[in-house]
Amino acid sequence: MLSMYHVITSPPPVEDMKGVGPKLRDKLLELDIRNANDIVFHLPSGYENLSVMDLTEARHNDKVTVAGDIKTEPALAFFRGGKSRLTVFMEVNGMYVKVVFFNQPYLKDKLKVGGSARISGKFNLHKLEINAQRLIFDASGGFHVKYHLGGVMHSKTFSKIVAEVFEKCIFNYDLPEDLKQKYRLLSIREALWHLHFPKNPHDINEARRTIKFYELFIFQLQLMEKRRQERVRNERYIVDYDVEALREFIDTLPFELTSDQKRSANEICRDLKQNISMHRLLQGDVGSGKTIVAGLASYAIRTIGEQTALMVPTEVLANQHYQSFMEIFDGRLNIAKLTGTTSRKEKMYIQEALREGEIDLIIGTHALIEDDVVFRRLSLIITDEQHRFGVNQRKRLNDKSYRKNVLYMTATPIPRTLSITTFGDMDISIIKEMPKGRKPVKTYWRRFDETDEVLDALAAEMEKGHSAYIVAPLIEESETLDLKNVQEIFQLFTDRFGEENVELVHGRMKPEEKSAGMKRFESHEKPVLVSTTVIEVGINVPNATFMVIFNAERFGLSTLHQLRGRVGRSDKQSYCVLVSDPKTENAKLRMDIMTSTTDGFELSEQDLEMRGPGDYFGVRQSGLPQFKVADLAEDYRVLEHARMSAIDYAAKMEADG
Ligand code: ADP
Ligand code: MG
Repeated sequence: MLSMYHVITSPPPVEDMKGVGPKLRDKLLELDIRNANDIVFHLPSGYENLSVMDLTEARHNDKVTVAGDIKTEPALAFFRGGKSRLTVFMEVNGMYVKVVFFNQPYLKDKLKVGGSARISGKFNLHKLEINAQRLIFDASGGFHVKYHLGGVMHSKTFSKIVAEVFEKCIFNYDLPEDLKQKYRLLSIREALWHLHFPKNPHDINEARRTIKFYELFIFQLQLMEKRRQERVRNERYIVDYDVEALREFIDTLPFELTSDQKRSANEICRDLKQNISMHRLLQGDVGSGKTIVAGLASYAIRTIGEQTALMVPTEVLANQHYQSFMEIFDGRLNIAKLTGTTSRKEKMYIQEALREGEIDLIIGTHALIEDDVVFRRLSLIITDEQHRFGVNQRKRLNDKSYRKNVLYMTATPIPRTLSITTFGDMDISIIKEMPKGRKPVKTYWRRFDETDEVLDALAAEMEKGHSAYIVAPLIEESETLDLKNVQEIFQLFTDRFGEENVELVHGRMKPEEKSAGMKRFESHEKPVLVSTTVIEVGINVPNATFMVIFNAERFGLSTLHQLRGRVGRSDKQSYCVLVSDPKTENAKLRMDIMTSTTDGFELSEQDLEMRGPGDYFGVRQSGLPQFKVADLAEDYRVLEHARMSAIDYAAKMEADG
């Protein structure tokens, strides 16, 4: 495996450096500093800029370093307790400035009228006065470098050791020449030198830019290496499916696949045909048609008489998938469902059928990983929302697989830049385009005092026999006066449409009550559902064409988008109304973004811009590395370049043998 912080081959140990004996060596060991590589990559924790600046550009209370001519004889005053004040007037950048040193009486002799001096301290713009901390003697100027050394030694001492490494050692590794040119980067040696021995802020910035790129470049190469290892080559992993049969099946579909669906299906089929285990993520918004793509893969497996397992995190999702697959295949595939609520008798029957190979596709929850679930020949595993499964759970299912092909599905649009880090070791297929005929949900933003208008619009939808979701963010009494709580909103709708038409479901209800309420809504017994965000978790009522989200500013873009995904599930035009009196610019921006696009990927990119990527990393907390300079939360643009470069580089390496 490529190592990131290894640029000197056979690095000498720390004790080879002057002045480092066994005692110091042990202390450095505690800081994980063992050898020359560790030394040069132990970067400064901060800099104190002691290079001279232009005082006319300084603001009040800035820490400044300036040079000027001494205009008056220094005046020294002593106070009680041995305290002292030394005052001198200097001309600095054309200004007449009072400079005061506290408790450094010995400086009096160094300050001579007509001479010049360099000082650093805090600038009081109003009084044109500098509270000087130090008089700088050394002519070199530049920066004071600070290191975190846990009190083991002084930063200056460590600097000497670093300098010795630069003197003694040859830096064997560097970024490829063409990359350095393309991105105007320094060599690694140069960059590290500038960071340890900086001359000016520009050098530090350029050096940081170089090391950042270097870290992300190596990180990408490491990920690619990991991918290679993951995709084990084995003739056994080839699924030599019947291409003709698959084509014929596609021809029988009631619709034409979108080009994104075709491309994704092709990518998956290519994986199947190869002697490499598939490790692919299929990403697509709710309703983009992932199910049919996954279905095609399982059909391909069926053509060689083998089996597919689809594992989902919840019973609700299992039911939904089961329904959709039954519709798609209409008897051409033997499909079964296995969950925690499957009866014992049925379970026995399913287990038997799986062992005998009579079931082509099994859809289920964690129940699938149990030991008594045995396959005749499992060759494809599909998991939905895989981040909700533990590594062990996935592994246990994978252990039952004969041909190690895994397809992950997710309906959470993740910005491309982030998928690179979070799913960097997977291949990714993306479905962006929605099926033809799908009408984007028309989204509006209304103020609270326009609620009547919203109720009128809902009345019109109900006339057409459609149903509606009303989302209220809280069940508790409102925190602030204008925050409508769910009870209040329920009241609003029952007043207008009558109790017989409005259902209430919220997080505080008993599960039986909740599901009874949901059922009345799903069966259209009650066409209006007022609820907290509980409906976020998989519910499918294609007849629902209207959604109102109260206090929409309380939700992030991705939640709003997930909520909106509950409507627009048929060929009928759907509507989403955000009711909100936003208080902040950010909240306003979110309302504007929501009304301007229904594209989940575009939203997620915008979300990334607004919030930064912190939240997305929860999606997959696999050991993201700690970098010295790079920060995944900020440097995702650099990451993109580093990734492209790494791909090119690896391809070139392969071509060169
Ligand atoms: P997802 O799983 O991505 O949320 P689905 O696969 O459930 O989406 O598809 C949503 C609906 O769109 C389904 O009713 C499906 O039959 C239909 N559908 C899928 N692909 C197409 C297509 N290319 N043209 C028209 N309808 C499609
Ligand atoms: Mg394969």
